[in-house]
Amino acid sequence: MIAANKLYHRHLVLIVDDQEINRDVLGVILEDNYDLLYAPDGQKAMELIRQYHDKLSIILLDLMMPVMDGFEVLDQLSSDQLLRNIPVIVLTAEKNAELKALKAGALDFITKPFDMHEVILARVKRIIELSDGQQLIRNAEKDPISGLYSRNFFKEYVERIYSYQSNMHMDAIVLNIDHFHSINNLNGRIFGDKVLQKIGDVITCFLNDVYGIASRLEADYYYIYCEHQEDYDSILELFQSAISESFPNTAIILRMGVKPWKDELDPFVMFDRAKTACDMMRGNYVTHLMIFNESMLQKEIYNQRLLNDLRSALDEHQFIVFYQPKYNIQCDPPKLSSAEALIRWKHPELGMISPGDFIPLFESYGLIHFIDEYVWNEAARQIAKWRDELGFTLPMSVNLSRTDIFDSNLEQKLLVIINKNGLTPDSMKLEVTESAYTDNANQLISVIEKLRMDGFQIEMDDFGSGYSSLNMLSSLPIDVLKIDMKFIQNIHQGSKEFRLVELILDIARYLNVPVVAEGVETQEQCDLLRGSGCELVQGYFFSRPLPPQDFEPLIHKEIALNR
Ligand code: C2E
Ligand code: CA
Ligand code: CA
Repeated sequence: MIAANKLYHRHLVLIVDDQEINRDVLGVILEDNYDLLYAPDGQKAMELIRQYHDKLSIILLDLMMPVMDGFEVLDQLSSDQLLRNIPVIVLTAEKNAELKALKAGALDFITKPFDMHEVILARVKRIIELSDGQQLIRNAEKDPISGLYSRNFFKEYVERIYSYQSNMHMDAIVLNIDHFHSINNLNGRIFGDKVLQKIGDVITCFLNDVYGIASRLEADYYYIYCEHQEDYDSILELFQSAISESFPNTAIILRMGVKPWKDELDPFVMFDRAKTACDMMRGNYVTHLMIFNESMLQKEIYNQRLLNDLRSALDEHQFIVFYQPKYNIQCDPPKLSSAEALIRWKHPELGMISPGDFIPLFESYGLIHFIDEYVWNEAARQIAKWRDELGFTLPMSVNLSRTDIFDSNLEQKLLVIINKNGLTPDSMKLEVTESAYTDNANQLISVIEKLRMDGFQIEMDDFGSGYSSLNMLSSLPIDVLKIDMKFIQNIHQGSKEFRLVELILDIARYLNVPVVAEGVETQEQCDLLRGSGCELVQGYFFSRPLPPQDFEPLIHKEIALNR
């Protein structure tokens, strides 16, 4: 039966029920379309689930059973990394149990006694489709251009190697292409992609012989985490000659920064240093390999500077909040619906500093709440100001960092800000990144539930970049899904990326929440999204993030339209 599953790609369904008659009835309903496994109780079911976890498409689970009941099975599934993505439909005769089962992570239920066969088939089919869609989105996390791990997977695996294989001595290597930007401009993007792909191939080939993993972490930066090497010159030479051979008519020069293994050093600190070394060769036409040495602490010194200056920056109002509009594109003309508050740092000596440079830094030092609270206050003040001066209440999204969520005073702080400005919580939306949900789901959910009861709306930010499962999503308290920018950037009619966006929209419909597409830059992207039912759009196509005085005309325009 399992072999058939592999051969014909039939989905495998596990039916768990202590009543033989129930197992038989479901079997008859499903056998034409699915391969089936049966278990008479939870314990036997768990054995089969562990054995077939990578082949199982869905579990139909009775709740009341001897030996181990269905709730216990749901519990065991949700606490197991490997198993928690397998969707479950519960079989129940009791109305009360349904809610409890849905809360415990089941996606749907079928009531007993079984009648309408078509309904049962349709439910099973629908849940499998949704879950397959999620899997596809997750798989898309392997960078399609280089074939290497994408960012999140890479980070996760590096952490694992670091924690569980601490006896391994691993180097951090950062590889970059000199002037890739010009190569792209001169030869076109298709050529640029070929170069990126070839480098991915060369690294993969290297890692066939040397223990390690790699990722194209951003644009033309490749990160390699591999067992300690002695001769970096010949590694670079190996990469360089393979690339020169493949592109004999174009000068493509690789740069390599290395932070060799050192006891007790966090791998991402090592990568920071390898990248610092790599970036130091910018504009240097002679040296292409740099090994980090302790005198190269400039970046770290810079970071130290930012950390030191935080206090005075707050006191002296060096932080400015910019606002980026979100438009409802299902209206004609598109309607201004809300905005996202985004921080900028206007440093008196270092100039404009982008949040990418200081948010992660402050996050890792546990200082981010200073920034966030500053932004929440500013944003609330701005909503009230526009309400009073322009007669227009513009709802505003602010970003929450994962550490904010574990601050026991969070709810209180937000309510004070709301009250102080005479607002209601529905004018403040809270953006929480998807990956925060997977870190510590239970605690997060209870915090978020409380905030929602107060009337705040929760937007899941960067959706598609994390690991949440369909099971988890359906029990998560969220009001809006924000599709991660990377899904939007390459969409075209008929493209794989567009299909993924459509899948996310399907999932959002199933969850019954509206979707914001972020990073929309072109008319084509906007049209595709509108056509597939996406409601809200944010991105340079409508506007960059703007300081408040430049945002005001957008409000005036909206007021004029509504007149
Ligand atoms: P995010 O929350 O995902 O914010 C969206 C980022 O995408 C913003 O970058 C925005 O300027 C940029 N963006 C918007 N439309 C487009 C587009 O069409 N194309 C492209 N390429 N980019 C677009 P920004 O302002 O640099 O912020 C970067 C990240 O910094 C944010 O990502 C967020 O994670 C963090 N951040 C910003 N402000 C705050 C804050 O007040 N608190 C916290 N905790 N994080 C913040
Ligand atoms: Ca955001
Ligand atoms: Ca985002």
